[in-house]
Amino acid sequence: PTMAQSKALLVLENFIGGKFVPCSSYLDSYNPSTGDVYCRVPDSGKEEVEAAVKAAKDAFPIWSSKSPLERSQILNKLADLIEHDLEAFAQAESKDQGKTITFARTVDIPRAVHNFRFFASSILHHVTECTEMPTMGCVHYTSRAPVGVAGLISPWNLPLYLLTWKIAPAIACGNTVVAKPSEMTSVTAWMMCKLLEKAGVPPGVVNVVFGTGAKAGEALVCHPDVPLISFTGSTQTAQRITERSAPHCKRLSLELGGKNPAIIFDDADLSQCIPTTVRSSFANQGEICLCTSRIFVQRGIYSEFLKRFVAEAKKWKTGNPSDPTVDVGALISKEHLEKVRTYVKKAQAEGARVLCGEGVDPLALLPGNQKGYFMLPTVIAEVKDESCCMQEEIFGPVTCVVAFDTEEEVIRRANGVKYGLAATVWSGNVGRVHRVAHRLQSGLVWTNCWLVRDLNLPFGGMKASGIGREGAKDSYEFFTEVKTITIKH
Ligand code: NAD
Repeated sequence: PTMAQSKALLVLENFIGGKFVPCSSYLDSYNPSTGDVYCRVPDSGKEEVEAAVKAAKDAFPIWSSKSPLERSQILNKLADLIEHDLEAFAQAESKDQGKTITFARTVDIPRAVHNFRFFASSILHHVTECTEMPTMGCVHYTSRAPVGVAGLISPWNLPLYLLTWKIAPAIACGNTVVAKPSEMTSVTAWMMCKLLEKAGVPPGVVNVVFGTGAKAGEALVCHPDVPLISFTGSTQTAQRITERSAPHCKRLSLELGGKNPAIIFDDADLSQCIPTTVRSSFANQGEICLCTSRIFVQRGIYSEFLKRFVAEAKKWKTGNPSDPTVDVGALISKEHLEKVRTYVKKAQAEGARVLCGEGVDPLALLPGNQKGYFMLPTVIAEVKDESCCMQEEIFGPVTCVVAFDTEEEVIRRANGVKYGLAATVWSGNVGRVHRVAHRLQSGLVWTNCWLVRDLNLPFGGMKASGIGREGAKDSYEFFTEVKTITIKH
C-alpha cells in the first residue's frame, strides 16, 4: 500500500502481558466485500509467541489460585462489555469476514457473549467423583486442576464465536492462554483485548498473537511450555499440528471439517425441511463446518423436493454484507472463491447438472462490490457419490442433491465419506429417526431441525472431523488435569 493508503489502514497489535505491542512485520488483510486491503495484521513468529507464553506462564499462579466464583464474575463482566459493544463488534466481523451484518448481529457476536456467560455459569456446577472401598478402609476421590498455558488456534469462518468458545472454558478452569486467531480475521479478537482490563482479567491471562499458521501457529504448537492445544480448522492443518506437537506429547482437541449429509425421507414435512435445508446449506455463505453439502432425498419426493428447494434457494439475496436484507455475503478470500468455483466446474465436467447459482444465474453487484468475492447459492444435481463434490469439503455456498431408495442404502452412502461431523435426518417416523441417527457416523445428528445447540452437551466430530469434544463437561475435562486421590482410614 502507498503512504496515503497506509494512513487510513487499521493496524492491529499483539496483546501480550496486558499490553498492546507492535510487531516488526505486518500482513495485509482484505475486506472480502470490496477486495481492498483495509487492515494490517502482525506477522508474528517465534519471538512474539515466546513473549506471550512467558506472560501466560507468569500469570498462571495468580489466576489458577482464584476461586471459580471470582473467575466466573470476571467472565460475566467481559460478556457484558462485549454485549454493550455488540453493534461495533458485528460491524467489524462483517467487514473483516465478508459475512452479512445480520448474521454477525444475530449469531456471531451474541454467541461470543453467550460463550463467556455459559462457562461463567457452568464452572460453578461441576462435581468430582468419589468412590468407597469399605473392605479396604478407603475412599477415593478425584480432583481437577488447570493444566497451565493453553494454546488456542481458531479459523476464519466464525472468528470471535469460535475463539471465545475456547478462551471462555480455558480461563474459567484457571488456565492462562495464548490465542492465535486466523490471519484473515483478526479484528474482533483485537477489539476484545481492549476490554479485558476493564473486565478484571489480570495481565497475562489472555494473550493474543496475530499472524499466519505456518509462523505464529507452529511456534505455539511447538512451544515446550504449552501443554495443550485446542484447534479448530481444517483436517489437513490438524494433521500437521499432530505431527509437530508429537515430540512433546501434547493434549490436543481437534475440531475439523465436515461433509455433512441431510437425509430426507418421503414422510418428511417439506414445509419445514426445505427452508431449513436451504439455510443449512447456505448460511454464512456455506462457510460453517456444520453446513449441509450432500442432500439425499427419497426417490418418491425427489423431483418435487428439487423444484421447491431450488425455488427457495433462489430467494436468497447475495450482495453487500452491510445491507440487512442480504442473505449471502462475500466469501473469505479470492483464492477460496476460486477453489469453490472450481468444484462447480468439475461437477459440470463430470456431467452433473447445476440447477441454480454459479454460471447459471446472473449475479448483480453494487459498483463498490464488483471486486468482492461473491458467489450465488449453487445447487447441483445428478452428482455421483465418488465425485470430489460429494467427497471433499467445499466450504462455500454449494450443495449437492441426489436420490435414494432405501434406509439401508442411504445410511451406507451417508457414511461413505472420510468425515463425520454433523448430519440431519428428516422424517415423521420416530422409530426411523432414532434408528438412522444411531447408525450414522457423525458426532452430531439433528432430526427435523438444524443447528439447535445445547452447549451443555458434547460438540465435535468423528473420523476425519476431529478428536475430542467441546461442551460444559467436555471442555472442563479437556482444560483440567484430573488426579485420583485415595485416603485410607
Ligand atoms: P485452517 O486449518 O487453514 O486454519 C485454521 C487455523 O489454523 C488458522 O488460525 C491458521 O492460521 C492456523 N494454522 C494453519 N496452519 C497451521 C500450522 N501449521 N500450525 C498451526 N496453526 C496453523 O482452517 P481455515 O481455512 O481457517 O478454516 C476452515 C476449516 O475449519 C474448515 O475445514 C472447517 O470445516 C473447519 N472448521 C471446523 C469447525 C468445527 O468445530 N469442527 C468449526 C469451524 C471450522
